[in-house]
Parts: sequence; C-alpha cells; structure tokens
Amino acid sequence: MRVGTGWDLHRLGSGRTLILGGVVIPSEKGEIAHSDGDVLVHAIIDALLGALAKGDIGSHFPDSDPRYKDISSIRLLKQVLEQDLPPYRIENLDTTIIVQRPKLREHIDAIRANLAKTLHLELDRVSVKAKTAETILGELGSGDAIIAQASVLISEIPC
Ligand code: MG
Repeated sequence: MRVGTGWDLHRLGSGRTLILGGVVIPSEKGEIAHSDGDVLVHAIIDALLGALAKGDIGSHFPDSDPRYKDISSIRLLKQVLEQDLPPYRIENLDTTIIVQRPKLREHIDAIRANLAKTLHLELDRVSVKAKTAETILGELGSGDAIIAQASVLISEIPC
C-alpha cells in the first residue's frame, strides 16, 4: 500500500466557471487557471502522483503547454489513471475544499458521484468535505481564492 497527499490553490475571478470534481457549481466567480482550473481534481492528481512517487501535476501537464489550455481536468485525471496508476488501484480518497462561497453542501453528493464514476470506485470510498475560511484568511476569507486537499490510499493489484 502507498499513501499520497495533494494540495492546490487557485484565485477566483469573475467570468470564470467554478468547476469542482468535474461538476459545474453555480457561482459568481470561478477558478482562474490555464486549464479549467478544477482545484479539487488538481489536488487528487497530485495525491495520486505523490503516492506513486511520480512527480506532480506541473511536471506531467505543464501550464506553459498550449495543449492544456482550458482542458478538462477530469481528462488529465483519466490520463493518470490509465497511464500512471497501474499496477496499483485506489482504495479510498478523502478530500477537503476550503472556500468562502458559494456554500457547497448541496453540491457535495454530485461531486462525490462524479469522482466515484471517474475513478471507478464505490461511493463509500470517495469523501468530499467542504469548509469556509471563516472570513478571516485574506483572499480565501474574502472569497477570492479556493483551496483543495486530497489524500489517497493505493494498493498493488495482486497478480
Ligand atoms: Mg491547479
């Protein structure tokens, strides 16, 4: 078994779409990024690459590469699952999103379901939690930034 952790932060800006775990969340602001900015999927990719000791998202998908402009981060995650993960499989995933607004409670089930489908996992192996920044933490507290954290456990598939 191997464990990995991932962390990501993006600024939030008007005129961008907020995407979390591949799900579009109604919001005044969205992640500012080269890709679609899905901060949650970026943290998950880093957790997987971390568990595999295969570098990080920036080394696999450089934001200087025009191929990744506005790309769906779910597509990048699928590439890691197909090309980097074998011969391992995911046992479980636990994540936390920290954002002042919008409130994510009503969207958590849709995010979990989409991640479970993408990762080919049962729903009870996928956890998504959300917290606010209690309005105190600078750009995070003012709703101008978003953070995601992910932990993943992977195990080698017996041959
Ligand atoms: Mg990112």
